[in-house]
Amino acid sequence: MRIREFQDVIDRMYSAKDRKRGSAGTFLWFMEEVGELAGALANGSHADKEGEFADVFAWLATIANVEGVDLEKAVAKYAEGCPGCGKLVCVCGDEEKP
Ligand SMILES: [Mg+2]
Ligand SMILES: [Zn+2]
Repeated sequence: MRIREFQDVIDRMYSAKDRKRGSAGTFLWFMEEVGELAGALANGSHADKEGEFADVFAWLATIANVEGVDLEKAVAKYAEGCPGCGKLVCVCGDEEKP
């Protein structure tokens, strides 16, 4: 599945509710899922991690839908190189993450 297709699935599934709630409220749900991912990374099974990565990605996609951002288009710049140093294998120092 392409990122664009995934975003369309999430759009059909959640956009009516999420547009009503708005970006700020939806962002809180996204952050709750980020917290669940932190928990899975700390002491979850591989299946737990997969589940929480999926949840975080789905909530990220739904915020992008509310904001009219095409994630596939947005991330395309990474195929050209690191946004910090322009290289395909990043040579930025840790303090320079984009
Ligand atoms: Mg979750
Ligand atoms: Zn870099």
